Amino acid sequence: MDSNLLTLDGRQGEGGGQVLRTSLSLSAALGRPIRIVHIRGGRSKPGLMRQHRTAARAVCEITDGQLAGDELGSTELEFTPGAIRAGEYRFAIGTAGSAMLVLQTVLPVLLCADGESTVVVEGGTHNPWAPPFEALDRSFRPLLERMGASLSLELHRPGFYPAGGGSVTATIRPASSPQRLELLDRGPRVSRKAEVLLAHLSDVIGRRELEVLFNRLPWVAADAPIVRCDDSAGPGNVALATLTYRDITEVFVAFGEKSVSAERVAKSLARRVRGYEGLDAPVGAHLADQLMLPMALLAGGTYRTTFVSKHTETNLDVINTFAPGTVSLEEEQPVGGRIDVQPLQP
Ligand code: ATP
Repeated sequence: MDSNLLTLDGRQGEGGGQVLRTSLSLSAALGRPIRIVHIRGGRSKPGLMRQHRTAARAVCEITDGQLAGDELGSTELEFTPGAIRAGEYRFAIGTAGSAMLVLQTVLPVLLCADGESTVVVEGGTHNPWAPPFEALDRSFRPLLERMGASLSLELHRPGFYPAGGGSVTATIRPASSPQRLELLDRGPRVSRKAEVLLAHLSDVIGRRELEVLFNRLPWVAADAPIVRCDDSAGPGNVALATLTYRDITEVFVAFGEKSVSAERVAKSLARRVRGYEGLDAPVGAHLADQLMLPMALLAGGTYRTTFVSKHTETNLDVINTFAPGTVSLEEEQPVGGRIDVQPLQP
């Protein structure tokens, strides 16, 4: 048995796909073979779904590695990475599985390549329980650029859950001079914007959502836009708020669903926005679990988050399993925390 092989337990912490994705990225970035057991063991339907299998195969292709146990439903997988190759890649999930999460798996790997890469991912671009395209583009991307890397994102076709069929292209240029990211405050507010995305559904839904937002958030304009996305394969409705401060942009979303009223969707978005506006830490709950991996692979840094989620704790644990002491958390009252990330030595 390879004594360098690292075994990870997919039941740990949050117990979902994140343990798998972060482990794959780190395995490839650090050149360390892994075995993951009990994949998504904390979920009611454990094992690899299409999004996870696509992510695993993508990382394997980029590193010309070896992968075993990657069939759908598999709860155990072994991956031996080869050398990372910059290049042009295309990965198709085949369902509405999140293209954004596949992108977030390959991105840290390609940040360690020796040149620019272009990646097309086909699947869902707007899924509940995953970052929507706008979160990656408006919130995550500028922070990655502050760390010295360059990322451009293009949404060719939106893909809403459950139909999927979206397509996104990412161009990734590794950092020639990685920078530490220090994100302890938001800085002064620059702008706030609300909008509603609609595909194959009536504008009336969007107008009802915007009216609730107008009544609940004092800064929402009476003529806030409805963005038609009718080139998508199936119907979709997302209410979005984008809050930009000097040092951070945060994107909040609420997804329309069958049998959930437009008013309820908008109220849930307003609640999230108010929750964030009522606190002072810069990094929201979702971004907090997504930032630490690229930071560890670049020059490290520190940030404060409004909420320490189970996803954040889990990602921290997975990274520290690869390299103990890389990420540390100091809790702040009532629910936030400060996260420190040391740079990893590949
Ligand atoms: P499963 O949980 O079924 O295994 P999964 O692999 O798709 O599914 P998780 O492991 O739960 O997903 O990870 C979801 C990721 O998406 C996390 O990084 C989480 O922060 C992020 N995320 C979820 N909702 C949002 C959102 N609204 N904005 C930004 N990021 C989000």
